[in-house]
Amino acid sequence: MYSIEHIYIDGQFVQPNGQEWFDLHNPSTGDVIGRVRLADVQDTKDAIAAARRAFPAFARTTREQRIAWLKRLYEAMLANVDRLAAATIEEYGAPSTRAKWGARYAAESFLHAAQTLEEYSFTRRIGSAEVVMEPVGVAALITPWNANAGFICNKLATAIAAGCTVVIKPSEMSALQTQIVTEALHEAGLPAGVFNIVTGRGDIVGSELSVNPNVAKISFTGSTAVGKSILRAGADTMKRVTLELGGKSPTLILDDANLETAVPVAVTSGFQNSGQACIAGTRILVPEDRLQDVIRLVKEAVSAVKVGHLNDADSAIGPMVSQRQYERVQGYIRRGVEEGATLVIGGEGHPDGLAGYYVKPTVFANVTNGMSIAREEIFGPVLCILTYRSEEEAIEIANDTVYGLHAYVISADIERARAVASRLEAGRVSINGAPHEPLAPFGGYKQSGIGREYGTFGLEAFLETKAVLGAIVLEPQ
Ligand code: NAD
Repeated sequence: MYSIEHIYIDGQFVQPNGQEWFDLHNPSTGDVIGRVRLADVQDTKDAIAAARRAFPAFARTTREQRIAWLKRLYEAMLANVDRLAAATIEEYGAPSTRAKWGARYAAESFLHAAQTLEEYSFTRRIGSAEVVMEPVGVAALITPWNANAGFICNKLATAIAAGCTVVIKPSEMSALQTQIVTEALHEAGLPAGVFNIVTGRGDIVGSELSVNPNVAKISFTGSTAVGKSILRAGADTMKRVTLELGGKSPTLILDDANLETAVPVAVTSGFQNSGQACIAGTRILVPEDRLQDVIRLVKEAVSAVKVGHLNDADSAIGPMVSQRQYERVQGYIRRGVEEGATLVIGGEGHPDGLAGYYVKPTVFANVTNGMSIAREEIFGPVLCILTYRSEEEAIEIANDTVYGLHAYVISADIERARAVASRLEAGRVSINGAPHEPLAPFGGYKQSGIGREYGTFGLEAFLETKAVLGAIVLEPQ
């Protein structure tokens, strides 16, 4: 049994003032594997105070100093990727390939931020003004359970590049991963107070971060409902916010696509991270006259997806993170049937031979965009097939959602796919299964969020802009 009893404030592991304990489960069995002692409001205030004390000196550090720290943080995380991947499998149920990718991604975020910082110009001239980009202040970084370590590292790396000090509120469900990340980051030897990590409940620690006047910025990744509450709570102190929220992303298979290759790509995109991915392509849009071919190929593709056995490199789908998430997914499968959609494969219950929080990878056809399974983020391996009669209608259906995080287009003609991409309301569009680009902006249109992360766009979200007039003496004309 794990017992996690410390949070990290002002460069030290300390016992929280908070007295509440939270159970950690292994999702592949449902067993309790440990517990974590949660921080409270006082701990949060202490962490904010430490970050605030550290801010003036850290804001004045040079680019070279911060690049050197980012590289040390990278090395420290790299030395721990195997431990982190193992914890991700045990605590969160990620299949091993995903867990290993996620742990490396977390470490590499520091290198990506260093690269952005190397190339970024903090000062530019506009007319007679000198325009200076300055760190915004103390930033609160709030992460979800579905990629806790990755988001801690990416947000922290960007904040450090900008010269901000931070208070991190990781998901309370990810305490094993957080412990490993904290130990690794501590090894890098940054000045005390630059980063503080307080694991606690969202409605306690997260709420305090959202209203505390000494927090200038919140970078939040999580659900749209909580993102809205943070936006409201932060309005009084006019916090800068970056909100990375939910999605219901469309995959448009255009009528010129080779279905034999397109369908497996669409299924893989929908099932990424066991379906617990904000960017999962969960609405597959196909030409109406190809529906029967698509259904046949979907059955083949899903039957080939291996569920379970997390340490097996071939497994693509692991369990849901919690009993609650398991039940939520079951509820949506039930609703899909009740709403009149046709079950192509999967359904309610556990897959054969698996217990814990495993669900059956499920695909519905004859779905209309008004059904709740097509409108709401399910956050599990449950996909909808919708049909269209023209490209125009496909674009209309794709955009008919409150979300706008990601979209996928599959076509034999790149120019045609680009033209469709230009009309989609989404922060990212991936053509023909193109992989992640770590320095390109990431974020959502509409209720999928506010602002962008990664690269220069992400860095500027941690900066304020100051125009200094009179600093530049203009040459007489
Ligand atoms: P969640 O919104 O329930 O929780 C996210 C974080 O917010 C947790 O740390 C939680 O403790 C905290 N929180 C909860 N209530 C809070 C409050 N009142 N004030 C401040 N913080 C609070 O989300 P989750 O269930 O952990 O994660 C899944 C969601 O995250 C999905 O909706 C998914 O789409 C989204 N997500 C988005 C992205 C993206 O980049 N757009 C990436 C990953 C996940």
